[in-house]
Amino acid sequence: MPKRHYITTAIDYPNAPPHMGHVLEKVLADVVARWWRLSGREVRFQVGTDEHGLKIQQTAKREGIEPSTLVERNVPLFKDVYDRLDISYDVFIRTTDRKRHWPTVVALWKALRASGALEKRTYKGLYCVGCEKFVTKKDLVDGKCPDHGAAPQEVSEENWFFLLAREQDWLRDLLTREDGYRIEPAFRANETLALLDQGLEDVSFSRPVSSLSWGIPVPDEEGQTMYVWCDALTNYLSGVGGFVDSALQKQWWDDAEVTHVIGKDIARFHALIWPAMLKTAGLPVPPPHRLLIHGFITSDGQKMSKSLGNVVDPKEVMEQYGVDALRFFLMYEIPVGNDGDFSRKRFDEMYDAKLRNQLGNLLNRVLVMIRKEGEDLTIPGSAEDAQRAVEGWSTFATTMERFEIHHAIQQAFHLVDVLNVGFDRAKPWTMKGEEKAALLARFAESLRHVALLLLPFIPKTAQQISEQLGVPYADRMLEKTFTIRPEWKTWGGCKEWKRIGEPSILFAPVEA
Ligand SMILES: [Zn+2]
Repeated sequence: MPKRHYITTAIDYPNAPPHMGHVLEKVLADVVARWWRLSGREVRFQVGTDEHGLKIQQTAKREGIEPSTLVERNVPLFKDVYDRLDISYDVFIRTTDRKRHWPTVVALWKALRASGALEKRTYKGLYCVGCEKFVTKKDLVDGKCPDHGAAPQEVSEENWFFLLAREQDWLRDLLTREDGYRIEPAFRANETLALLDQGLEDVSFSRPVSSLSWGIPVPDEEGQTMYVWCDALTNYLSGVGGFVDSALQKQWWDDAEVTHVIGKDIARFHALIWPAMLKTAGLPVPPPHRLLIHGFITSDGQKMSKSLGNVVDPKEVMEQYGVDALRFFLMYEIPVGNDGDFSRKRFDEMYDAKLRNQLGNLLNRVLVMIRKEGEDLTIPGSAEDAQRAVEGWSTFATTMERFEIHHAIQQAFHLVDVLNVGFDRAKPWTMKGEEKAALLARFAESLRHVALLLLPFIPKTAQQISEQLGVPYADRMLEKTFTIRPEWKTWGGCKEWKRIGEPSILFAPVEA
């Protein structure tokens, strides 16, 4: 298993504030990045913003401002939400960054051009002046643009095309080979393979400045702007100094395991155009190179949309319930790769049942009872306890490595369930002396393991649990360099742990 992981999310389009879909993707990538760091692997985690293109250009025009002013206003909204969410990114890349992003993009374009993979062609199509874009016959009603009531004009323009169609067989091999470019979960790969069966078309890679001006100019040519592909996809490479900083590129691209976390709607571009670009430009497609795909989020079973008035603002949820409640809900409730639903009712139920009652109350009951007996702690052990800990951690690690993130967090909460049942059954409040102390210490040790299991998912809560338990490593758990030592995963393995800490409420009640 490689020791060095480069993990990225999609870069977000900042023409409106971030929504729950953005948040799901960043939390998913963050959980994976944290798990790898906790397992002692080197990690570079990148997020960012895709700031060029016609929509930004048009939104800015409507507001009577420059596109640059619009993105300077909106990009901080994304950073703010990700910082609040404890997204542990190392790099935030922006496609308007002329020092960091543009040189790699220009170099990649030139490499594609030099290899003969770009060809200038005349593109003919129907153009709506009101929309300022090409439309297809499907977009029209009675031959007119439904938004502008006008018939589109027949326009032809010069575009650079990327010769994707000829890469079809190579791509099929890459996507089906065991050590190739892997799409996870596997069921998401079928959609992309079906596209290959239909046959690929060459892709427009540039536009005349008259149709798109807000973007990176095509090098060595007047009057053409790069279209989204070569600009946006290339962020993954510019963030690690592609073509510009050979040492950094070698460390985090050529010699790293690369994982792109993206939504299902852009899987095809990442699985087809991006590897073909890399190959054509003579760059390695590092094996294994993986795409981790997530689904969409609905609101009470319906698509979130402004017109339906059912858009859930992630900031509001965090303010009301706390950051970790949101992180917990997204990871526990939505199986990786599937669409999921966000409902306030369900959120409330889960918050009360799982976080407040099962986790929070159990910790509190255990700690309050131990303190009544005195603060000292001796963890009793048995071969059975030792075996259970080994098996539990092994299952957890396998599940995390397979990106079955929802199963991993459910496993941790299943342990909490089992402990709750065990606590009520054992009735420690009816016991005395050594028997009572031993039983309570056993619960405390189980909760120490629970906190470590939950650390990638709800880091601050996991740290607070450990602090209340009085575990000696608790104050270091939120550091990026913190790793879970092998002995801490064993029963009674934290030898320096002698006394418990101060109990307090983990999750406060929330008025709906
Ligand atoms: Zn129109």
